Amino acid sequence: MTMTTSPNLMTTSSVTAIAEADWARAVKSIDGAERIWLACHIRPDADALGSMLAFGMALASARPGTPVVASFGDEPFELPGILRFLPGQSLLRPPARYPARPDVMLSFDAASIDRLGLLAAPAAAAGELIVLDHHASNTGFGSVSLVDPAAAATAVIAAELIDRLGIAVTRDVALGLYAGLVTDTGSFKYAATTPQVHELAARLLATGIDPGIVARELYDRAPFGYLRLLSAALGRATLEPAAAGGLGLVWTTVTRADRAAAGGLPLDAAESVIDVVRKTDEAEVAAVLKEADDGVWQVSARSKSAVDVGAACTALGGGGHARAAGFSFAGREGEAVAALLRELDQR
Ligand code: MN
Repeated sequence: MTMTTSPNLMTTSSVTAIAEADWARAVKSIDGAERIWLACHIRPDADALGSMLAFGMALASARPGTPVVASFGDEPFELPGILRFLPGQSLLRPPARYPARPDVMLSFDAASIDRLGLLAAPAAAAGELIVLDHHASNTGFGSVSLVDPAAAATAVIAAELIDRLGIAVTRDVALGLYAGLVTDTGSFKYAATTPQVHELAARLLATGIDPGIVARELYDRAPFGYLRLLSAALGRATLEPAAAGGLGLVWTTVTRADRAAAGGLPLDAAESVIDVVRKTDEAEVAAVLKEADDGVWQVSARSKSAVDVGAACTALGGGGHARAAGFSFAGREGEAVAALLRELDQR
């Protein structure tokens, strides 16, 4: 199918820094595919899952003859509760349903092939692997790289690919893209919130989606037990004024015991604790160490303006953006903090 005009088609040239040749090859491969396999990073967030499902729905409705399967490489295969409002979940299949060598595969919001978890092996063997991402730490994996570190979200890149395929953005497609945009811009607060971000948001809202649903589902609700969990985490927050060359670090933990005492909350329930901790005036950097069910610490780090936590977390085996990043650490919490402190002093 050639690119056709559509009322939603962007009239300007690319808003991203991605080469025309890469866009053209992506469109050609997708148009020529008999079946499309989609994947996003493990423990998906709203940008990863929202942009993947939005793209999948767009393609499935425009190309009814091209089956679309979406997945992520977690075992057990469980959707974070907070993302159950996203449309398009009928496209989801567990990673075991993936073929060993998919013909055409697209990866959403993963900075490296390992971030695809159980789907890293099929991705490595794919005939064509089209990578949509916006992490500065992206390793350049895949045969087609639709990567722009200046893009506010992978949803921005997914929206442009949908446009370039000549597919109109329906309300369900818009909701997934909007959820990614809201999440990765911190509700339109971070520096990546360019005029183009608001233009895309306006276009998505014009389909009739309710921005209140996205805000409420992602930020403004929690079970009562969350108050206990937050209280425990904030009660033991520690300020390290000398950290990061004197700019300061504030950190705390959310343990398995906290989640059990809060009524058995899942790990993703602790995701927003960092948004309270990072308010601390006395600290440029904030970190929350969340103890996963397997005892490994999932560390989220945020900075305000001066420290590149993305580089620090990448050096510790993780990744992310300059102001929001993370890494995993198997060991004691004190060792995880010590490792972070060492890295921050190098920045
Ligand atoms: Mn993202």
